[in-house]
Amino acid sequence: MAHEFTIVCIKGDCGSEGGHIKPTPEMLDATKSRLASNDGLLTDWRVWNFGDDINQVMVLRGDLGNPEVHDLGWNGLNDAAEVARQAGLHAAGQDILTDAPSGNVRGAGPGVAEIKVRFGTEERPAESFLIFGIDKSGPGAYNWLFRKAFTDPDSCMGLMLSYMLKGFSFTIVDMEFKGAEGKDRLVVLDGSTQLGLISALLFQDCRFGIQAIHSNNYPDVQVAAISTDRLHSIGGIYRGKDDPVAIVRVQGKLPATEEVLKPFTAAPYVPGGARGSHRLSLLPVPLNSPLAGAYCQPIVTCAAFSLSPEGKLSGPGDVFSDISWDRARKKALLKSELMGEQMCSGAAMLPIEEIEY
Ligand code: 13P
Ligand code: MG
Ligand code: MG
Repeated sequence: MAHEFTIVCIKGDCGSEGGHIKPTPEMLDATKSRLASNDGLLTDWRVWNFGDDINQVMVLRGDLGNPEVHDLGWNGLNDAAEVARQAGLHAAGQDILTDAPSGNVRGAGPGVAEIKVRFGTEERPAESFLIFGIDKSGPGAYNWLFRKAFTDPDSCMGLMLSYMLKGFSFTIVDMEFKGAEGKDRLVVLDGSTQLGLISALLFQDCRFGIQAIHSNNYPDVQVAAISTDRLHSIGGIYRGKDDPVAIVRVQGKLPATEEVLKPFTAAPYVPGGARGSHRLSLLPVPLNSPLAGAYCQPIVTCAAFSLSPEGKLSGPGDVFSDISWDRARKKALLKSELMGEQMCSGAAMLPIEEIEY
């Protein structure tokens, strides 16, 4: 029998201690108490932080865009922001940009990624997935990583197998476009035949971001969902980086966990860092890590989960906590140190329109 659930991530920077470092335990407790009061709306949930951002993952039976779940996620972040305000923390309520939105937090400040999953079938006997969280960067930080993982057999050997031979489609969003009523400007491109076009958009990592990835072999199957909300497009002023989350389904007829992880060993340069204004290397760190590195180094965490037929989560497995990632960490620190020697000039700086504050 097939099982269907929706996995929702609603994340935000609600304030942090000592600068843009991390939320306090009291803030995380406030968010957890709110999610614990879900009254049967969720089959399961988890809360953790990556740097100064709080991530809430919520699992429900039912559809994408559930208004009650959006309200719950909003309240979870708002409760943490209230604790931060009372404690006089830095940038308390940073991503809480509007008054309580009703039933949809998109465009209100928090980042949202949602994906529908169906498993317990011959095609997909079990549901395994990864949730990435990046602090001190923007949604474009995933561009190179996921293009590699879903189009390059040197990263994903599975692309040579019959059930992955048609590759994957990328839904790419123009993050600068401000359409009426929150309408996005989107394009869907085929990773197996339009790689040049995909690369031509994705190298512009401050403007274009991957919003979704679908399987071409199994067209109804969405593989990845990424939060592509850009704060500076909301209200027109900069308050912080957009620090995106990504949900990526793995295994079975999809790339294996290790095939998605492989590009992260390169510790690529991404937009972000101090004042959100530089290009620094992406440092893999354990879940719940605070800010790292000497100059607000962009950090990435990865939580691995399985889902039971009842919608209960196993996990998170803390992927980047393993010693084998030390080499990538050293590489990331070295790459950032080298770039940092010229921190306020040339390649180390983002274009003037991206200089955040
Ligand atoms: P956050 O978006 O993580 O708050 O970082 C803001 C920043 O500009 C750090 O220098
Ligand atoms: Mg912050
Ligand atoms: Mg942050």
